[in-house]
Amino acid sequence: MNNMLEDTEKKRDYIEPTIFFIIVFGIYLSSFYSFLLFHTIAELFSIIIAGGIFVIAWNSRKNIDNSFFLVIGISFLFVGFIDLIHTLAYAGMNIFIGYDANLPTQLWILGRYLQSLSFLFGALVVNKKLKPYHLTVGYSIVSILFVSLIFIGLFPDAYVLGSGLTPFKIISEYIINLILFITIFILYKYRNIFDRKVLILIIVSIIATMVAELAFTFYVSVYGLSNLVGHIFKIIAFYLLYKSIIRIGLETPFDLVYRQLKTSEQRITHAYSELDQMLNAALPIRIIDNECKMIKINDTFSRLFKLKREDLIGKKCFEILPHKFCHTDNCSRNQILSGKEKVTYETEQNHADGTKITLIIDSFPYRSPEGEFLGLIQNYTDITDRKKAEEKIANLAKFPSENPYPVLRVSKNGIIYTNKAGEEIFKIAVNDEIPSILREDIEKVLSDKILNTVERAVNDKVYSFVITPVEGVNYINIYGSDITERKKAEKRLEQLISTVSHELRTPLTVILMSLDFLKNKKETITPEIKEQLMEGISRNTSLLHELAEDILMSSRIDEKKIELKLSENSPYKMINEILTLLEPIYKEKNLEIEVDVDENIRLNGDSKRMDHIFRIVIDNAIKYSNDNSKIEIKAIDNYKGKYNPEEKPGVLIQIKDYGIGIPKKDLILIFDRFFRSDQVKDITGTGLGLSIAKDLVHLHHGEIYVESEFKKGSEFEIFLPKTES
Ligand code: ADP
Repeated sequence: MNNMLEDTEKKRDYIEPTIFFIIVFGIYLSSFYSFLLFHTIAELFSIIIAGGIFVIAWNSRKNIDNSFFLVIGISFLFVGFIDLIHTLAYAGMNIFIGYDANLPTQLWILGRYLQSLSFLFGALVVNKKLKPYHLTVGYSIVSILFVSLIFIGLFPDAYVLGSGLTPFKIISEYIINLILFITIFILYKYRNIFDRKVLILIIVSIIATMVAELAFTFYVSVYGLSNLVGHIFKIIAFYLLYKSIIRIGLETPFDLVYRQLKTSEQRITHAYSELDQMLNAALPIRIIDNECKMIKINDTFSRLFKLKREDLIGKKCFEILPHKFCHTDNCSRNQILSGKEKVTYETEQNHADGTKITLIIDSFPYRSPEGEFLGLIQNYTDITDRKKAEEKIANLAKFPSENPYPVLRVSKNGIIYTNKAGEEIFKIAVNDEIPSILREDIEKVLSDKILNTVERAVNDKVYSFVITPVEGVNYINIYGSDITERKKAEKRLEQLISTVSHELRTPLTVILMSLDFLKNKKETITPEIKEQLMEGISRNTSLLHELAEDILMSSRIDEKKIELKLSENSPYKMINEILTLLEPIYKEKNLEIEVDVDENIRLNGDSKRMDHIFRIVIDNAIKYSNDNSKIEIKAIDNYKGKYNPEEKPGVLIQIKDYGIGIPKKDLILIFDRFFRSDQVKDITGTGLGLSIAKDLVHLHHGEIYVESEFKKGSEFEIFLPKTES
C-alpha cells in the first residue's frame, strides 16, 4: 500500500516538470513567430503562477505556521498584478496610449523591487506572527501608490528612447540581486524552520530570479536575447516557488502538522521528564485525592518512609501513615476539609521498623483547571536530625557541670558560676574575684562586647578560652578547652621544619657549588677534579633522597600514622635478604659477615617495619666498619637477661662490628634525630636512621641498646617481644 503511494508520487514528481518544460519550450518557440507574442505568453504564464502562489498560500494560511510563505503568497498577488500591467503596457501592445518603453520598464522594476523586498521581509519575519489582512492592506496601499506614481510620471525613468536603459534601471537590478543574495543568507540561518526540500526549492527559485535579473541588466533592446533568457528564468523561478508553496501548503500540511506535533510532544516529554527529575530530587512529595487516597508520590517520599511505591499508591493515608489529622476514615475527611487552604504542621510518625521521625508537612489544595477541589499536594520536610541536634544542644546547655573543661559565667564583680573543671583549674569558687590570669581579657570583653579567644598555660597544660559576651546582660560566659596536645604537635612541627631546612642546606650547597664550578671553570678543570665533583653531586643527591625518605618516615611516626600490619616473620630470612642486598657494599670493604640465626625462630610483627629496623643497624655496621674487618649477627630465641629486664618472651638480635666505635659522650645521643658523631663527618648519613629504628622498635613494644668502645667497635642489641598475632 505504502509502496503504491510512493510509486504514484514518484511518477507525479517526474511528469509535472516534464509538462512544465514542454510548456516553457512552447513559449520559447512562440518567440520565433513574434517577440511580443512570446513576451505576452511568458508574462501571462508567470502571472498565472503568481496567482496560483497567492491562492494556495491564502487558502492554507491556517496550516502554515511560517510567516515567510504568508508574506510571499500575498506579495505575489501584487507582483502578478504589477506584472500584468507591465505586460499590457509592453511596447507594441498599444493599450496605454501616450507612453513609450519607459512605462513597462518602470513597472518591471517596481515588480522586481516588490518581489525581492518581499523575499527579504518574509525571511526576516519568518518567526513572527503576522495578520494576513494587515499584510494585504499594506501591499494594496504600496502597490497602488507606486503604480500611480509611475503613471503620473513621478517615478524615476528606467528607459530613455534613443539612449536606452537609465542608470537607475541598471543599478536597481544590482540592488535587487543584492537583496536576494542577502535573503538567501537569512533563510539559510533559519534553515531549521524549513523542510529541507522546500528550502532548496526556495533558494533555487531565488537564484533563478537573480539569473533573470542579471540577464535583464544586459538587455539592449526590448526584444533582445537577454530579455528572452530573463523571462524564461523568471518563469522557472516562479514555478519553483509555486512548487515550494504547493508542497508546504497542500501536499505536506499533514507532514507539517505532524512535525509540529512531534516537536511539541518532544517538548512536553522533555518538560515532563525534567519535572519528574525535579520532583524526585526535591523534598518528599505526595498527592492525595479528595478521599485521602494517595494517587502520586515521588521517589524521595517512598524513601523517607522506607516503603515501596506499590505499598503506598491507592492506600488511604491513615492506613499506612497515621498522623494527627488522619487516624480514621472520618479524620481523613477532616484533613481534606482543613486542606482547602494551605496548612503547615509538624508531626511525628513511625517507620515500619519502629524508628520515629519528625516531619513538617506543607499541605496545598490541588484543583482542576476549572477550580474543582481534587485533593492535596503535600510536601514533607524531615526534621528528625534537626530535632535531635536541638535536643543535644538543650542537654548540653542544661549540664555545663558535666563538661570536662572549664565553663564559667563572670561579671565584673566576680564569679557568678563555675563548673567543677573551672573550680579545679583556677582554684576558685562562686563569688570569688575574677581569676587574675584572665582578668584583663574578661574586662575587655565586658566593655567591648566582642567575642575573644585567648590561650593560657595553667598547671602544665595549655587551654584555649572563648570569652563570649551575652546580649543584654552584664556578664560574659567563658568556655575552655584543653589544647595541650595540639600545641605540642605544633611545636614538634616547627622543630622538624627548622631542622629539616638546616639539614637540607648542606647537601644542596655541595651540589649547587659543584654544578657551578663544573659550569664556569669548564676549560681549566682536570678530568680528576671533574670526576670528584660528579661523585660529590651523586653522593649528595642520594643523601637528599635518603633524607627525604627518612624525614617522611619520622613525620609519619610523629603523626602516629604508622599502623602495624602484624604477621609471622622469620628473622633468618629477613637478615639474609638484607645481606644479599648490601653484598656489593660490604664486599667492596672486604668485610666478613658471620650470621648465627636459627632458621626456626619466628617473630610476630610488621614485616616491612622489622626489615627497616634491621636494615638501619646492619647498614650502619657496614658503613662504620674498617676495611677487612668482621661483622657478627646473632639471634637468641627466648632471651632473658639485662636487655630484657621484664623477662618477656622474645628474641634478642645482636649486631656487632669492629669498626670506628662511638665516643662515650655520644652514646646517649646517637638515637636522637639528626645526631651524628664528629668523627663520621666524611661518611654520608642523615642522622635519622637510629631514631627511626628506635621508634619502630618501640612500636613493637621492644627496646634497642648500644654498647661501644671508641675505635674498637660497636654492638647494637635489639630486643623484640613475641606478641600474639
Ligand atoms: P647516620 O648513620 O645516617 O649518620 P644514624 O641515626 O643511623 O645516622 O646514626 C647516628 C650516628 O650514630 C652516626 O652518625 C654515627 O655517628 C653513630 N653510629 C651509628 N651506628 C654506628 C656504628 N655501627 N658504629 C659507629 N658509630 C655509629
